[in-house]
Amino acid sequence: MSDQNPVFIPGPTNIPEALRRACDVPTLDHRSPRFGALLRPALAGVRAVLGMEAGEVALLPATGTGGWEAAVTNTLSPGDRVLAARHGMFSARWIALCRKHGLDVQVIEAPWGEGCPTDAMGAALAADTDHRIKAVLATHNETATGVTSEIAALRAAMDGARHPALLMVDGVSSIGSIPFEMARWGVDVAVAGSQKGFMLPAGLAILGLSPRALAAMEHAGLTRAYFDLRDLLGATDTGGYPYTPPVGLISGLAASVAMLQAEGLDAVHARHARIAGGVRAAVRAWGLELCARRPALYSDTVSAVMAPPGCNGSEVVTLAAQKYGVAFGIGLGDVAGKLFRIGHLGSVTDVMMLSGIATAEMCMADLGWPIELGAGVAAAQDHYRTTALAEHRAAA
Ligand SMILES: *Cc1c(COP(=O)(O)O)cnc(C)c1O
Repeated sequence: MSDQNPVFIPGPTNIPEALRRACDVPTLDHRSPRFGALLRPALAGVRAVLGMEAGEVALLPATGTGGWEAAVTNTLSPGDRVLAARHGMFSARWIALCRKHGLDVQVIEAPWGEGCPTDAMGAALAADTDHRIKAVLATHNETATGVTSEIAALRAAMDGARHPALLMVDGVSSIGSIPFEMARWGVDVAVAGSQKGFMLPAGLAILGLSPRALAAMEHAGLTRAYFDLRDLLGATDTGGYPYTPPVGLISGLAASVAMLQAEGLDAVHARHARIAGGVRAAVRAWGLELCARRPALYSDTVSAVMAPPGCNGSEVVTLAAQKYGVAFGIGLGDVAGKLFRIGHLGSVTDVMMLSGIATAEMCMADLGWPIELGAGVAAAQDHYRTTALAEHRAAA
Protein backbone atom coordinates (compact mmCIF):
# COMPACT_ATOMS: atom_id res chain seq x y z
CA MET A 1 0.00 0.00 0.00
CA SER A 2 1.23 3.47 -0.80
CA ASP A 3 0.58 6.38 1.51
CA GLN A 4 1.79 8.84 -1.13
CA ASN A 5 -1.08 11.05 -2.18
CA PRO A 6 -0.65 13.64 -4.90
CA VAL A 7 -0.01 17.16 -3.63
CA PHE A 8 -2.34 20.03 -4.52
CA ILE A 9 0.00 22.85 -3.64
CA PRO A 10 1.07 25.30 -6.35
CA GLY A 11 4.63 24.06 -6.12
CA PRO A 12 6.56 21.99 -5.55
CA THR A 13 4.41 19.89 -7.85
CA ASN A 14 4.01 16.15 -8.32
CA ILE A 15 7.08 14.57 -9.90
CA PRO A 16 6.28 11.98 -12.58
CA GLU A 17 8.07 8.67 -11.99
CA ALA A 18 9.96 9.03 -15.28
CA LEU A 19 11.39 12.37 -14.15
CA ARG A 20 12.41 11.01 -10.75
CA ARG A 21 14.33 8.33 -12.58
CA ALA A 22 15.82 10.87 -14.98
CA CYS A 23 17.23 12.82 -12.00
CA ASP A 24 18.92 9.68 -10.67
CA VAL A 25 22.18 9.66 -12.58
CA PRO A 26 25.54 8.25 -11.53
CA THR A 27 28.35 10.69 -10.86
CA LEU A 28 29.68 12.03 -14.08
CA ASP A 29 32.45 14.43 -14.89
CA HIS A 30 30.84 17.72 -15.75
CA ARG A 31 33.87 18.59 -17.85
CA SER A 32 33.34 15.55 -20.06
CA PRO A 33 31.29 15.50 -23.29
CA ARG A 34 28.67 13.37 -21.50
CA PHE A 35 27.58 16.43 -19.52
CA GLY A 36 27.26 18.54 -22.65
CA ALA A 37 25.05 15.81 -24.09
CA LEU A 38 22.62 16.35 -21.17
CA LEU A 39 22.88 20.11 -21.07
CA ARG A 40 22.29 20.89 -24.74
CA PRO A 41 18.86 19.26 -25.08
CA ALA A 42 17.80 20.77 -21.73
CA LEU A 43 18.71 24.27 -22.97
CA ALA A 44 17.05 23.72 -26.35
CA GLY A 45 13.86 22.40 -24.74
CA VAL A 46 13.66 25.33 -22.32
CA ARG A 47 13.89 27.72 -25.30
CA ALA A 48 10.84 26.06 -26.83
CA VAL A 49 8.87 26.09 -23.56
CA LEU A 50 9.65 29.79 -23.06
CA GLY A 51 8.69 30.67 -26.64
CA MET A 52 12.15 32.15 -27.23
CA GLU A 53 13.75 33.11 -30.51
CA ALA A 54 17.00 35.01 -30.02
CA GLY A 55 18.80 35.14 -26.67
CA GLU A 56 20.17 32.65 -24.16
CA VAL A 57 18.95 30.32 -21.42
CA ALA A 58 20.71 30.18 -18.05
CA LEU A 59 20.28 27.31 -15.57
CA LEU A 60 21.43 28.25 -12.08
CA PRO A 61 21.66 26.05 -9.00
CA ALA A 62 19.03 28.06 -7.06
CA THR A 63 15.26 28.42 -6.84
CA GLY A 64 12.91 30.97 -8.38
CA THR A 65 13.98 33.53 -5.77
CA GLY A 66 17.57 33.17 -6.92
CA GLY A 67 16.28 33.67 -10.45
CA TRP A 68 14.78 37.03 -9.43
CA GLU A 69 18.12 38.01 -7.95
CA ALA A 70 20.08 36.94 -11.01
CA ALA A 71 17.62 38.83 -13.25
CA VAL A 72 18.11 42.17 -11.53
CA THR A 73 21.77 41.98 -10.51
CA ASN A 74 22.83 41.06 -14.03
CA THR A 75 20.99 43.88 -15.78
CA LEU A 76 20.71 46.85 -13.38
CA SER A 77 22.90 49.24 -11.39
CA PRO A 78 22.58 50.62 -7.84
CA GLY A 79 19.93 53.33 -7.66
CA ASP A 80 18.29 52.34 -10.95
CA ARG A 81 14.57 52.89 -10.96
CA VAL A 82 12.35 49.86 -11.43
CA LEU A 83 8.59 49.92 -11.95
CA ALA A 84 6.64 47.06 -10.37
CA ALA A 85 3.06 46.21 -9.45
CA ARG A 86 2.30 44.74 -6.02
CA HIS A 87 -0.82 42.61 -5.97
CA GLY A 88 0.16 39.48 -4.06
CA MET A 89 2.88 37.83 -1.99
CA PHE A 90 5.19 36.95 -4.87
CA SER A 91 5.13 40.36 -6.52
CA ALA A 92 5.71 41.81 -3.02
CA ARG A 93 8.73 39.57 -2.42
CA TRP A 94 10.39 40.47 -5.71
CA ILE A 95 9.98 44.16 -4.85
CA ALA A 96 11.53 43.55 -1.41
CA LEU A 97 14.47 41.76 -3.02
CA CYS A 98 15.04 44.69 -5.40
CA ARG A 99 15.06 47.11 -2.48
CA LYS A 100 17.65 45.01 -0.64
CA HIS A 101 19.83 45.46 -3.70
CA GLY A 102 19.52 49.24 -3.52
CA LEU A 103 17.16 49.63 -6.46
CA ASP A 104 14.68 52.50 -6.44
CA VAL A 105 11.39 50.65 -6.83
CA GLN A 106 8.36 52.63 -7.97
CA VAL A 107 5.49 50.46 -6.76
CA ILE A 108 2.00 50.51 -8.19
CA GLU A 109 -0.40 48.96 -5.71
CA ALA A 110 -3.35 46.90 -6.86
CA PRO A 111 -5.78 44.96 -4.69
CA TRP A 112 -4.87 41.33 -4.05
CA GLY A 113 -7.11 39.45 -6.49
CA GLU A 114 -6.51 41.96 -9.26
CA GLY A 115 -4.05 41.55 -12.10
CA CYS A 116 -1.08 43.69 -13.02
CA PRO A 117 -2.56 47.22 -13.37
CA THR A 118 -1.54 47.71 -16.97
CA ASP A 119 -3.14 51.14 -17.43
CA ALA A 120 -1.46 52.58 -14.35
CA MET A 121 1.86 51.03 -15.39
CA GLY A 122 1.47 52.57 -18.85
CA ALA A 123 0.69 55.97 -17.34
CA ALA A 124 3.76 55.78 -15.09
CA LEU A 125 5.90 54.93 -18.10
CA ALA A 126 4.40 57.72 -20.20
CA ALA A 127 5.13 60.18 -17.36
CA ASP A 128 8.74 59.01 -17.20
CA THR A 129 9.83 61.13 -20.15
CA ASP A 130 13.52 61.10 -19.26
CA HIS A 131 13.47 57.29 -19.05
CA ARG A 132 14.70 56.92 -15.50
CA ILE A 133 12.83 53.62 -15.23
CA LYS A 134 15.24 50.95 -16.35
CA ALA A 135 13.08 47.86 -15.87
CA VAL A 136 9.44 46.87 -15.53
CA LEU A 137 8.73 43.86 -13.32
CA ALA A 138 5.63 41.72 -13.71
CA THR A 139 4.36 38.55 -12.07
CA HIS A 140 2.71 36.56 -14.84
CA ASN A 141 0.86 34.29 -12.44
CA GLU A 142 0.38 35.53 -8.86
CA THR A 143 0.52 32.22 -7.03
CA ALA A 144 -0.79 33.79 -3.81
CA THR A 145 -4.10 34.90 -5.33
CA GLY A 146 -4.55 32.65 -8.38
CA VAL A 147 -4.40 35.57 -10.80
CA THR A 148 -2.87 35.49 -14.28
CA SER A 149 -1.96 38.82 -15.85
CA GLU A 150 -1.72 39.54 -19.54
CA ILE A 151 1.91 40.19 -20.36
CA ALA A 152 1.07 41.09 -23.98
CA ALA A 153 -1.07 43.96 -22.65
CA LEU A 154 1.79 45.19 -20.47
CA ARG A 155 4.13 45.06 -23.46
CA ALA A 156 1.57 47.05 -25.47
CA ALA A 157 1.44 49.67 -22.68
CA MET A 158 5.26 49.91 -22.71
CA ASP A 159 5.28 50.25 -26.48
CA GLY A 160 2.43 52.77 -26.32
CA ALA A 161 4.57 54.91 -24.01
CA ARG A 162 7.58 54.29 -26.32
CA HIS A 163 9.50 53.31 -23.23
CA PRO A 164 12.81 51.45 -23.56
CA ALA A 165 12.83 49.77 -20.10
CA LEU A 166 13.60 46.08 -19.90
CA LEU A 167 10.59 43.84 -19.26
CA MET A 168 11.25 41.18 -16.62
CA VAL A 169 8.59 38.57 -15.97
CA ASP A 170 8.24 36.11 -13.11
CA GLY A 171 6.84 33.01 -14.78
CA VAL A 172 7.67 30.63 -11.94
CA SER A 173 4.11 29.29 -11.59
CA SER A 174 3.08 29.69 -15.22
CA ILE A 175 5.91 28.59 -17.49
CA GLY A 176 5.47 25.03 -18.69
CA SER A 177 1.77 24.95 -17.77
CA ILE A 178 0.06 27.89 -19.46
CA PRO A 179 1.09 29.79 -22.60
CA PHE A 180 4.25 31.87 -22.27
CA GLU A 181 5.52 33.70 -25.35
CA MET A 182 8.82 35.31 -24.49
CA ALA A 183 9.64 36.51 -28.03
CA ARG A 184 6.12 37.54 -29.04
CA TRP A 185 5.56 39.47 -25.79
CA GLY A 186 8.97 41.11 -25.95
CA VAL A 187 10.05 39.76 -22.57
CA ASP A 188 13.69 40.54 -21.78
CA VAL A 189 14.13 38.31 -18.74
CA ALA A 190 11.85 35.38 -17.92
CA VAL A 191 12.27 33.58 -14.60
CA ALA A 192 11.14 30.01 -13.86
CA GLY A 193 12.01 27.31 -11.35
CA SER A 194 12.38 23.56 -11.70
CA GLN A 195 9.74 22.59 -9.11
CA LYS A 196 6.58 23.96 -10.70
CA GLY A 197 5.64 23.54 -14.36
CA PHE A 198 8.81 21.55 -15.02
CA MET A 199 7.66 18.91 -12.47
CA LEU A 200 11.12 18.43 -10.93
CA PRO A 201 12.55 18.80 -7.44
CA ALA A 202 13.46 22.35 -6.43
CA GLY A 203 17.00 23.43 -7.17
CA LEU A 204 17.21 25.06 -10.58
CA ALA A 205 16.45 28.67 -11.39
CA ILE A 206 15.69 28.80 -15.11
CA LEU A 207 16.16 32.10 -16.93
CA GLY A 208 15.49 33.22 -20.46
CA LEU A 209 17.45 36.31 -21.54
CA SER A 210 16.73 38.44 -24.60
CA PRO A 211 19.52 40.05 -26.65
CA ARG A 212 18.75 43.35 -24.88
CA ALA A 213 19.13 41.70 -21.48
CA LEU A 214 22.41 40.15 -22.61
CA ALA A 215 23.63 43.58 -23.70
CA ALA A 216 22.62 45.07 -20.31
CA MET A 217 24.73 42.38 -18.57
CA GLU A 218 27.88 44.00 -19.92
CA HIS A 219 27.44 47.29 -18.05
CA ALA A 220 25.17 46.39 -15.08
CA GLY A 221 26.69 47.76 -11.88
CA LEU A 222 25.02 45.70 -9.13
CA THR A 223 27.31 43.28 -7.34
CA ARG A 224 27.09 39.76 -8.66
CA ALA A 225 29.52 36.96 -8.17
CA TYR A 226 28.15 33.42 -8.04
CA PHE A 227 25.17 34.57 -10.14
CA ASP A 228 27.31 36.42 -12.69
CA LEU A 229 25.69 35.20 -15.88
CA ARG A 230 28.64 36.29 -18.00
CA ASP A 231 30.72 33.52 -16.42
CA LEU A 232 27.90 31.00 -16.73
CA LEU A 233 26.95 31.74 -20.33
CA GLY A 234 30.59 31.86 -21.38
CA ALA A 235 31.02 28.34 -20.05
CA THR A 236 27.72 26.85 -21.27
CA ASP A 237 28.59 27.96 -24.81
CA THR A 238 31.10 25.15 -24.77
CA GLY A 239 28.87 22.69 -22.88
CA GLY A 240 30.37 23.43 -19.47
CA TYR A 241 29.85 25.28 -16.18
CA PRO A 242 32.01 27.68 -14.18
CA TYR A 243 31.35 25.49 -11.08
CA THR A 244 29.96 22.06 -10.35
CA PRO A 245 26.47 21.88 -11.87
CA PRO A 246 23.55 19.89 -10.40
CA VAL A 247 23.87 17.17 -13.00
CA GLY A 248 20.87 15.16 -11.80
CA LEU A 249 18.51 18.13 -12.08
CA ILE A 250 19.82 19.03 -15.50
CA SER A 251 19.29 15.44 -16.60
CA GLY A 252 15.77 15.69 -15.16
CA LEU A 253 15.20 18.95 -17.00
CA ALA A 254 16.19 17.39 -20.34
CA ALA A 255 13.60 14.66 -19.67
CA SER A 256 11.01 17.20 -18.49
CA VAL A 257 11.17 19.34 -21.62
CA ALA A 258 11.09 16.18 -23.75
CA MET A 259 7.97 15.07 -21.87
CA LEU A 260 6.27 18.46 -22.37
CA GLN A 261 7.15 18.46 -26.05
CA ALA A 262 5.98 14.86 -26.52
CA GLU A 263 2.57 15.78 -25.11
CA GLY A 264 2.74 18.97 -27.19
CA LEU A 265 2.81 22.41 -25.56
CA ASP A 266 -0.65 23.25 -26.89
CA ALA A 267 -1.99 20.02 -25.41
CA VAL A 268 -0.26 20.75 -22.08
CA HIS A 269 -1.89 24.18 -21.97
CA ALA A 270 -5.28 22.75 -22.94
CA ARG A 271 -4.98 20.12 -20.20
CA HIS A 272 -4.31 22.79 -17.60
CA ALA A 273 -7.25 24.88 -18.81
CA ARG A 274 -9.53 21.87 -18.68
CA ILE A 275 -8.44 20.74 -15.23
CA ALA A 276 -8.72 24.28 -13.88
CA GLY A 277 -12.23 24.48 -15.34
CA GLY A 278 -13.24 21.49 -13.22
CA VAL A 279 -11.81 23.08 -10.08
CA ARG A 280 -13.70 26.30 -10.77
CA ALA A 281 -16.91 24.35 -11.41
CA ALA A 282 -16.45 22.77 -7.97
CA VAL A 283 -15.86 26.13 -6.31
CA ARG A 284 -19.05 27.49 -7.87
CA ALA A 285 -20.99 24.44 -6.72
CA TRP A 286 -19.72 24.98 -3.18
CA GLY A 287 -21.14 28.49 -3.40
CA LEU A 288 -17.67 29.93 -2.73
CA GLU A 289 -15.75 32.70 -4.48
CA LEU A 290 -12.27 32.82 -5.90
CA CYS A 291 -9.82 35.49 -4.79
CA ALA A 292 -9.33 36.39 -8.48
CA ARG A 293 -11.91 39.05 -9.14
CA ARG A 294 -12.92 38.32 -12.73
CA PRO A 295 -12.94 35.32 -15.05
CA ALA A 296 -10.33 37.00 -17.28
CA LEU A 297 -7.91 36.83 -14.33
CA TYR A 298 -8.53 33.21 -13.35
CA SER A 299 -5.35 31.20 -13.22
CA ASP A 300 -5.22 27.79 -14.85
CA THR A 301 -2.44 26.72 -12.46
CA VAL A 302 -3.76 27.64 -9.01
CA SER A 303 -7.16 28.52 -7.57
CA ALA A 304 -7.36 30.57 -4.36
CA VAL A 305 -10.70 29.78 -2.73
CA MET A 306 -12.10 32.38 -0.36
CA ALA A 307 -13.32 31.06 2.99
CA PRO A 308 -16.92 31.94 3.82
CA PRO A 309 -17.52 34.54 6.56
CA GLY A 310 -16.39 33.31 9.97
CA CYS A 311 -14.29 30.46 8.50
CA ASN A 312 -10.51 30.19 8.35
CA GLY A 313 -9.01 28.88 5.12
CA SER A 314 -5.88 27.64 6.88
CA GLU A 315 -7.97 25.15 8.87
CA VAL A 316 -8.80 23.30 5.63
CA VAL A 317 -5.10 23.01 4.90
CA THR A 318 -4.20 21.80 8.40
CA LEU A 319 -7.02 19.26 8.51
CA ALA A 320 -6.28 17.95 5.02
CA ALA A 321 -2.68 17.33 6.02
CA GLN A 322 -3.44 15.78 9.41
CA LYS A 323 -6.52 13.71 8.67
CA TYR A 324 -6.21 12.84 4.99
CA GLY A 325 -2.49 13.22 4.21
CA VAL A 326 -3.16 15.70 1.41
CA ALA A 327 -1.43 19.05 0.88
CA PHE A 328 -3.20 22.27 -0.13
CA GLY A 329 -1.76 25.78 0.04
CA ILE A 330 -2.48 28.26 2.82
CA GLY A 331 -3.18 31.95 2.30
CA LEU A 332 -0.02 34.08 2.37
CA GLY A 333 0.54 37.63 3.59
CA ASP A 334 -2.53 39.87 3.35
CA VAL A 335 -4.81 36.91 2.62
CA ALA A 336 -3.52 34.60 5.40
CA GLY A 337 -6.50 32.72 6.84
CA LYS A 338 -8.86 34.23 4.31
CA LEU A 339 -8.47 31.53 1.69
CA PHE A 340 -6.92 28.20 0.82
CA ARG A 341 -5.24 27.38 -2.46
CA ILE A 342 -5.65 24.41 -4.74
CA GLY A 343 -2.64 23.91 -6.99
CA HIS A 344 -3.35 22.33 -10.37
CA LEU A 345 -0.15 22.67 -12.34
CA GLY A 346 2.50 20.34 -13.62
CA SER A 347 1.84 16.63 -13.58
CA VAL A 348 -1.88 16.49 -12.92
CA THR A 349 -4.81 14.72 -14.55
CA ASP A 350 -8.55 15.16 -14.18
CA VAL A 351 -8.76 11.94 -12.15
CA MET A 352 -6.07 13.18 -9.75
CA MET A 353 -7.88 16.49 -9.50
CA LEU A 354 -11.14 14.81 -8.56
CA SER A 355 -9.40 13.30 -5.53
CA GLY A 356 -8.18 16.74 -4.50
CA ILE A 357 -11.60 18.30 -4.90
CA ALA A 358 -13.15 15.43 -2.91
CA THR A 359 -10.61 15.88 -0.12
CA ALA A 360 -11.12 19.64 0.10
CA GLU A 361 -14.85 18.96 0.26
CA MET A 362 -14.46 16.45 3.10
CA CYS A 363 -12.38 18.94 5.06
CA MET A 364 -14.86 21.76 4.60
CA ALA A 365 -17.71 19.46 5.67
CA ASP A 366 -15.68 18.27 8.68
CA LEU A 367 -15.16 21.91 9.67
CA GLY A 368 -18.87 22.69 9.35
CA TRP A 369 -18.48 25.02 6.38
CA PRO A 370 -21.82 25.59 4.64
CA ILE A 371 -21.16 23.41 1.62
CA GLU A 372 -22.98 20.34 0.38
CA LEU A 373 -20.83 17.21 0.47
CA GLY A 374 -20.46 15.90 -3.09
CA ALA A 375 -21.60 19.07 -4.84
CA GLY A 376 -18.12 20.13 -5.97
CA VAL A 377 -17.09 16.63 -7.02
CA ALA A 378 -20.29 16.25 -9.07
CA ALA A 379 -19.75 19.60 -10.79
CA ALA A 380 -16.15 18.72 -11.63
CA GLN A 381 -17.20 15.26 -12.84
CA ASP A 382 -19.66 16.92 -15.18
CA HIS A 383 -16.99 19.26 -16.45
CA TYR A 384 -14.51 16.44 -17.05
CA ARG A 385 -17.10 14.11 -18.64
CA THR A 386 -18.12 16.73 -21.15
CA THR A 387 -14.59 17.88 -21.98
CA ALA A 388 -12.83 14.48 -21.99
CA LEU A 389 -9.78 14.28 -24.21
CA ALA A 390 -10.54 13.32 -27.80
CA GLU A 391 -8.14 10.35 -27.82
CA HIS A 392 -9.80 8.88 -24.75
CA ARG A 393 -13.26 9.37 -26.24
CA ALA A 394 -12.11 7.71 -29.46
CA ALA A 395 -10.88 4.68 -27.52
CA ALA A 396 -14.15 4.33 -25.63
C1 LIG B 1 7.13 29.67 -6.21
C2 LIG B 1 7.24 31.06 -6.76
C3 LIG B 1 8.40 31.83 -6.66
C4 LIG B 1 9.63 31.50 -5.93
O1 LIG B 1 9.99 30.42 -5.70
P1 LIG B 1 11.13 29.61 -4.96
O2 LIG B 1 11.44 28.62 -6.01
O3 LIG B 1 10.47 29.07 -3.77
O4 LIG B 1 12.26 30.51 -4.68
C5 LIG B 1 8.42 33.06 -7.27
N1 LIG B 1 7.38 33.52 -7.94
C6 LIG B 1 6.25 32.82 -8.07
C7 LIG B 1 5.12 33.40 -8.86
C8 LIG B 1 6.14 31.56 -7.48
O5 LIG B 1 5.01 30.87 -7.61
